[in-house]
Amino acid sequence: MTAPLCHPERSEGSLRAKSLAATTLQNRALTTDLFQLTLDAPAIAATLAPGQFVHLRLPNPAHVLRRPFSVSAANPEAGTLDIVYQVVGAGTAELSGVTRGASLDVLGPLGRGWRPPVGTRHALLVGGGVGAAPLLPLAQSLPAADVVLGAQTAARLVGHADFAGRVGADHVYITTDDGSAGQPGFATDVTRDLLAAHPYDYVATCGPEPMQRLVAALARAADVPCQVSLERRMACGVGVCLSCVVTTTTGRARACAEGPVFDAAEVAW
Ligand SMILES: Cc1cc2nc3c(=O)[nH]c(=O)nc-3n(C[C@H](O)[C@H](O)[C@H](O)COP(=O)(O)OP(=O)(O)OC[C@H]3O[C@@H](n4cnc5c(N)ncnc54)[C@H](O)[C@@H]3O)c2cc1C
Repeated sequence: MTAPLCHPERSEGSLRAKSLAATTLQNRALTTDLFQLTLDAPAIAATLAPGQFVHLRLPNPAHVLRRPFSVSAANPEAGTLDIVYQVVGAGTAELSGVTRGASLDVLGPLGRGWRPPVGTRHALLVGGGVGAAPLLPLAQSLPAADVVLGAQTAARLVGHADFAGRVGADHVYITTDDGSAGQPGFATDVTRDLLAAHPYDYVATCGPEPMQRLVAALARAADVPCQVSLERRMACGVGVCLSCVVTTTTGRARACAEGPVFDAAEVAW
């Protein structure tokens, strides 16, 4: 029998999200292929929760589908959203050419964000590459956290100064595949050591799915609740097209509506 699709009671009303015209305040290169986009989008900044995402329409109508991006910082007072993105294909290449003052059509906030257990005191956040971006607002919202940032090279590390500003430099652990910064190796190696050394009460991770799967397994072995943010390819972003389905232990769920953040224990890895 086919499992029922999705869990309507757990969606956060993506269908009610509105698109709006947001002015580009800044679109700066952090490295050769990493960019930080700042948008003036007060209505979204006022209501966005850590871990939710926005769906951007690219200026060139040849790109029919919007592109989903997590928000690395939402500032309700200033009315701004920050997005850190990596150029991986035609859409993000076009986005990197958007200039200050340009208007972008933004749909959001979308999806369900991070849901740390009530009373979380000390969390472990594990980000791989640009997947670290949605962990930044989570770090801001927690009383204390250790952060593991992994990347292929030093140039691909995202947000280490921001994380250090939020949790303290001593609590940020860096790994690079090529050893160009921090400890040579994978984020999961340090995650394993930290889980053995500290009684965390929450683990959150975002980045390449094999990394997330291993972090989830390490957290399960340490008996610590874990949430993962699954960045599946998606088309509509509002739960209609079913292109981003994730198989869970209780049925199929839409990454754009019931996710992108899922309890690791409910994902059928
Ligand atoms: C909820 C969510 C949040 C995301 N947040 C960020 C973020 O904060 N920063 C960031 O750089 N990227 C993020 N992504 C991935 C980003 O959406 C894709 O990299 C982007 O859509 C690629 O567009 P493109 O036209 O440049 O690439 P394409 O030419 O369409 O594809 C190029 C490559 O990107 C991959 N890709 C395309 N779409 C997606 C997608 N939706 N998810 C994963 N990989 C994809 C393809 O498999 C291919 O390898 C997020 C994705 C999701 C679903």
